[in-house]
This record gives sequence, structure tokens and C-alpha cells, in this order.
Amino acid sequence: MRIDVLTLFPEMFHGVLNESILKRAQETGIVQVKLINFREYATDKHRTVDDYPYGGGAGMVLKPEPIFRAVDHIKESAATKPRIIILTPQGKRYTQQQAEELAKKDHLVLICGHYEGFDERILTLADDEISIGDYVLTGGELGAMVIIDSVVRLLPGVLGNEASPEEESFSTGLLEHPHYTRPREFRGMKVPDVLLSGNHQKIDEWRRKEALRRTLIRRPDLLEDYPLTEVEKRWLEEIRQEEEK
Ligand code: SAM
Repeated sequence: MRIDVLTLFPEMFHGVLNESILKRAQETGIVQVKLINFREYATDKHRTVDDYPYGGGAGMVLKPEPIFRAVDHIKESAATKPRIIILTPQGKRYTQQQAEELAKKDHLVLICGHYEGFDERILTLADDEISIGDYVLTGGELGAMVIIDSVVRLLPGVLGNEASPEEESFSTGLLEHPHYTRPREFRGMKVPDVLLSGNHQKIDEWRRKEALRRTLIRRPDLLEDYPLTEVEKRWLEEIRQEEEK
């Protein structure tokens, strides 16, 4: 996968891209991330990327010309049509489902805003406008990092065989079950007996039921869209009774 990021602050990405799983994914050639400072596409002497808003008001607005030019340049060298994403708090709220969809693409372009945001005409470039949550950040860089991280870890070969992203929270439609590791007992808190039993069917049932319990307690909204099996309906009833006690 190729990911091009248009940003005025490329240095912000260095820590995130040069550590751990994202670093390895680049080293093994699974993903190629290019940071492009779109100031380089401004043609005036001062390399201006922003200007005062028409109609007055506070803050500076990102001008269309440098971003359009940068995108034109990317398209010229692209092997396939890139999926162009603009980071904005006014976009569709980002989810695991979107990460899964983006992970199927060959080429993403992430455009990070700053200051008061984009001249409205820049939005015509976007296939998607994405918000990472209902709050306002100073720039789109943190949002772009969230997208890169959540997408790249889904690419085949990135997490290795031992991890299975399809069983994680949101991918199944539920939150994931609790995890335990050694020691068996820590400060009076014991690992549930079933996990030590070696009975894989029982362990699997426990995990599925605890995933349901977690979701019911923490994110009951997720259950509205989740197609419960007959067994899960019965478990949910049991969990409700257990939790009422
Ligand atoms: N004036 C804009 C508004 O009220 O909608 C907010 C602009 S914000 C200060 C500057 C830039 O940060 C935005 O253009 C966008 O790229 C990025 N940004 C801020 N909050 C974001 C969010 N929740 N998700 C994605 N990007 C965000």
C-alpha cells in the first residue's frame, strides 16, 4: 500500500512512523508512507498556504492552489486511482469498519488541515471526509496518524500469524473478551479457573459470553446492530440476570 500525507508539519509523524509495528511494516515494504509538505507547492515568494477569510472573521483559511497542485502531482505518479481523504471534524466519524474498507485500497492520500480549516473548494478533491471524533484538534495530523495506524495493522503480514485482528473489538461487532497472563494470582485477584482448565471449548464459550457481557455493560449501543445467535440470546439473558444480582 502507498500512503501519501499532505501536511504542513511532517516532523509530527516521525515518532509514530519510526517505532514498532509501523516501522516494521515500512521496512518490509508492506506500506510506503510519503510525507509531503504542501507548502512546497505554493508558488509565491513567501510560499503562502493560507489567507484571510472572505467575509471577515478570526483565523486563517488554507488556500486551494497548493493543495490542488500537490494532489495533481500525486495523481500523475499514481499507478492506480488513489482514495483521497480529507481530515475534518465535520466529516463522517471514523470506525473500525472504515479502517477495514481503507485497508483494501492500494493507495491513500490523507490531507491534513490546520488553522481555521480548508477553503471549501478543497473539499471537492475528497472521496471521504473523515473525523476521528467529536472534538476539535489544532490540525489533521493526529487524525492522519490514527488512520495510518489502524489501517496498516490490518494489512496482511503486518501483525504476523499470532495476532488476529478479525477477533478484536468492533471487528466482530462486539467488544473483545478480557485477557489474562501470568501470574495466576496477583494481589488477591485470580485468573478465572476456566482459562486454566485446558478445555478449549469451554474457554471459547467463556470468551464469547464475556465479550457479550463487556459489550452489554460498556457499549450496549453496539448490540443494536449485532445479529445475536440463539445461544447468544440465551447468554445475554443469563448475563442480565447475573448483573442484576
Ligand atoms: N474551523 C473548523 C471547524 O470548526 O469545523 C475546525 C478547524 S481545526 C482547528 C483545523 C484542522 O484540524 C481541520 O481542518 C482538520 O484537518 C483538523 N481536525 C480538527 N479536528 C479534527 C477531527 N476531530 N477529526 C479530523 N480532523 C480534525
